[in-house]
Amino acid sequence: MSAASFTGGVAALARRLRAREVSSVEVTQERLDAIAREQGRVPALGAFLRVDAERALAEARTADERAARGEAGPLNGVPVAHKDIFVTDFARSGLATTAGSKMLADYASPFDATVVARLGPGLPGERPGAGMVTLGKLNCDEFAMGSSNENSAFGPVRNPWDRTRVPGGSSGGSAAAVAAGLVPAATGTDTGGSIRQPASFCGVTGIKPTYGLCSRWGMVAFASSLDQAGPLAKSAEDCALLLSAMSGFDARDATSAERPPVDLHAAMLAPREGASAARPLAGLRIGLPQEFFPAALAADVGDAVRGALAELEKLGATLVDVSLPRTELSIPVYYIIAPAEASSNLSRFDGVRYGHRASAPADLVALYKKSRSEAFGAEVKRRIMIGTYVLSHGYYDAYYLQAQKLRRMIADDFQAVFKQCDLVAGPVAPTVAWKLGAQADDPVKAYLADIFTLPASLAGLPGMSVPAGFSASAGEGGLPVGLQLIGNYFAEGALLHAAHALQQATDWHLREPRP
Ligand code: GLN
Repeated sequence: MSAASFTGGVAALARRLRAREVSSVEVTQERLDAIAREQGRVPALGAFLRVDAERALAEARTADERAARGEAGPLNGVPVAHKDIFVTDFARSGLATTAGSKMLADYASPFDATVVARLGPGLPGERPGAGMVTLGKLNCDEFAMGSSNENSAFGPVRNPWDRTRVPGGSSGGSAAAVAAGLVPAATGTDTGGSIRQPASFCGVTGIKPTYGLCSRWGMVAFASSLDQAGPLAKSAEDCALLLSAMSGFDARDATSAERPPVDLHAAMLAPREGASAARPLAGLRIGLPQEFFPAALAADVGDAVRGALAELEKLGATLVDVSLPRTELSIPVYYIIAPAEASSNLSRFDGVRYGHRASAPADLVALYKKSRSEAFGAEVKRRIMIGTYVLSHGYYDAYYLQAQKLRRMIADDFQAVFKQCDLVAGPVAPTVAWKLGAQADDPVKAYLADIFTLPASLAGLPGMSVPAGFSASAGEGGLPVGLQLIGNYFAEGALLHAAHALQQATDWHLREPRP
C-alpha cells in the first residue's frame, strides 16, 4: 500500500480501519515515518516536542486486537497527538508534560487529563475510551500564553504553508502538525483564541466548545474561567468525532457542565427542518457583527471571509447585520481577567510543590525568587506582574471588578444578538499569519490581534475556525484564512452542521501545503 493512501482525515481513516483495509499499526507507523522525515528537515517545523514511537506502536497493536475482537469504537486505532498543556500519565505513556515551559521541563504526571483518557484508554468507571493512538506531545506557547507559538521555551513552531511565518498560537504545534499531515487530529486549548487562531493561520478546522463542555481536569491551568479544550483536524466532521469523544461531564472539574453526552457527529449530519439537499442551510440566520468587519481588516482576510459567507448564502443561509458594540473592550477586559487568574494559578510553581528548583538559594524567599526568575519566560512574567497588579488592594475595584462587569455586558450583547440570528460569523483574526519575529518587541500588537476571538471566550460561547480560502498577496498560493462561526451555549451541533455543509460545497479545508 502506498504511503499516500494513508493520508486523509479522521473519518476516512476510521472507516478504513473499521473495514480492516488497513491496521492501526500500519497507519501509526506511516505517521511516525512522516514525523521522522519532518524532523530531518531544515528548518524543522518544530510541532512535536516528544514522540514515543514504541509506545505508540504498542497502543496501535492493542487497538488492532480490540478491532479483531469487535470491540472497536468509531475512533479506535486512529492516531492523535496532544498539546503539551494536557498532562499525560508518564508511567502509561512515557510522555512528560511541559506546558511549553522550562518550569515543567520533564514533568512526569502521575495521571492522564480527562480529555487524554477519554480519547485514549478511557477513565476507570466510565464509558470505554475512544482507543485513539497517542503519537506524542505538541509544542505550544508557554502556559498557553501567546498567539504565535514564539513564547515556547522549546523553540518556535513554523507555519507549514510558509516556514518563515508563525503558525499562530498558543496551540501552534497542534495546528501545524495537522496542516502538515503529521497527525490526522490534535487536541488544543483555547482561553482567548488558541484553537481558532492557529487553525485559521494553518488552514485547518478547530472548535472551542462552550465553557464547561470538556473537562479541564489535567489541563495545566492558565485562566480557569476561560480555558477550554477542543480538537483541531482537517474537517468539521473530524472535529465532531473527536469532540463527541472528549467532552462530557466530569465530577473532578467543578465547572464541568452536568449534561448527558452528545453525539455531535449525528447532530452535524441531522438535516435542518425545511432544508433540501441543495439548500442544507435553508432558514439559518447568520449574524455579521459590524464590529467584526472594521476598515482596518486586512483586505485578503475580508475578501476570503466574504467569499465563504457568499457560499453559505448559496447553501440557503440568510445573512443579517448585527452589532456587538463592546467588541473592542474585549481586549482590555481579557488582558485584565486572564492575567489575574494566571497570576493566581501560577503561584503553585514555587520550586517546592512543583517545577524547577533553583540551586543553592540563601533562604526560602530566595528559593522562590530564583526558581521563578530562572524558569518563567518573559511573557509569563509580564502576565504575572499585570495580574498581581490588577488584583492588588487599591486597584482591584478599578481594574479587576470593572473588567468582570464588562465581561457580563459582553455576554449580554451576544444574547441580544442571538435573538436576531442563529450563528454569528466573522474573521478569526485581522490578518493572515505574520513573519516569525515580527511582533517580538511589542506584546501589545499581539494582544490587539486577538480582537475577534476574545468576545466568545469572555462570554463562554462555542466558536469555530473553518478554512475560508487563501490570501492572494503573501506569495504564490497564498496563506490560509479562517472563517469564525460562533454559536449560542451548547450549540456545537449547529456550528458543526453549518461548517460541514460549507465543507461539502468547498475544498479549502482539503488543500495541503507543499511537502
Ligand atoms: N492569544 C491569547 C493570549 O495570549 C489567547 C491564548 C489562549 O487562548 N490560550 O492570551
